[in-house]
Amino acid sequence: MGIVIALANQKGGVGKTTTSVNLGACLAELGKKVLLIDSDAQGNATSGVGIHKAKIEKDIYDVLVNEYPIAETIIPSSHPGLDIVPATIQLSGAEIELTSQMARESRLLDAVKEIKDRYDYILIDCPPSLGLLTINAFSASDSILIPVQSEYYALEGLSQLMNTIRLVQKHFNPDLKIEGVLMTMLDARTNLGTQVVAEVQNYFKNKVYKTVIPRNIRLSEAPSHGKAIIDYDPSSRGAEEYMSLAKEVLAAHD
Ligand code: ADP
Ligand code: MG
Repeated sequence: MGIVIALANQKGGVGKTTTSVNLGACLAELGKKVLLIDSDAQGNATSGVGIHKAKIEKDIYDVLVNEYPIAETIIPSSHPGLDIVPATIQLSGAEIELTSQMARESRLLDAVKEIKDRYDYILIDCPPSLGLLTINAFSASDSILIPVQSEYYALEGLSQLMNTIRLVQKHFNPDLKIEGVLMTMLDARTNLGTQVVAEVQNYFKNKVYKTVIPRNIRLSEAPSHGKAIIDYDPSSRGAEEYMSLAKEVLAAHD
């Protein structure tokens, strides 16, 4: 049975999508069968793994709103062993459309059940909000990986995120866990970043990964080439650290 991990933080621009794509590719590189589910209407994970929007026939919107079979939406990404359920801008209407539907919080859970045994890891790239799409992701997941940007106010908003996790545990998914907290975009030239890492470690204790993702220009270039960092520039710091993260994640599930 695959392990389902949601990548979430309601702040935008903290590295959710970058981590989804690159952790997914690194886990695949280490021999795991991985599915990435893009649950953000921006579709950045989709384009980031080389999928051209114009070629998408059915996407996560059809799965969530129309209960279309998820298996028929899965397509291979630019990295071998990594598949994706794509998202398009269509998804931006899903939260409102779902509001009046039955079992609106468990649409993704029901879909993921159908394909869980085909993968070792299923990663869900969440949108920057705590709305119905994120609730669906949390209900469908075994655990949550929280990317936190290494900057001032890093902890801001995390209490709302923790509240949402508690609500989902109470009503839909009692076994939901915190997979880990990942510090991203660390600028090693400033003391600030290092201070923030210490602050987050103080809050989340041993949940914080030893791997810290540095600010690395190659990581921000890779998506426009539709490639994961290990394919775009395998010798970059970004590639090295995402591979290190993948090994930490694997070790946690030994
Ligand atoms: P989110 O999904 O949380 O909104 P993204 O992963 O899309 O965040 O990252 C926001 C922006 O920062 C993107 O342009 C991305 O390419 C860039 N970025 C993410 N991580 C890094 C990093 N470690 N170094 C440099 N740029 C990064
Ligand atoms: Mg994103």
